[in-house]
Amino acid sequence: MSRVQTRATPEECKQPSGTVRPLIDHRRCEGAAACAAVCPHDVFEVRKITRAEQTALPLLPWLKVLAHGGRQAFAINADACQACGACIAACPEKAIRLERV
Ligand code: SF4
Repeated sequence: MSRVQTRATPEECKQPSGTVRPLIDHRRCEGAAACAAVCPHDVFEVRKITRAEQTALPLLPWLKVLAHGGRQAFAINADACQACGACIAACPEKAIRLERV
C-alpha cells in the first residue's frame, strides 16, 4: 500500500527560520524521500551517499543503505526549517527529529 505525500503549507510552520533544524539519523534513513516530498521549504536532498559517508556508518546500517540503492536524505538547507513537523510525521523510518539551534 502506498501513501500519498502532500507538501505541508507554510501556514503549518511554527517557528521562524533558524530556530530549529532537522537532524537525520543516517543509521535509520532508507532514502524513501518522504521528507523531501512534504517539506515546504526544500530543506532535504535525497542522493546516493559518498564513499566517505559510507565509511562513517557502522556495518549494519551500511548494509541497509546498500540494500536501498545507497540513497539517503540530507538536510542541505537546514537553516530554512520552520518546524512544521511534516518530515517527522512522514518519515517511515522515524529517522528525523528537530533540534533547537
Ligand atoms: S519540520 Fe521538516 S518539513 Fe517542516 S520545515 Fe522543517 S525540515 Fe521542512
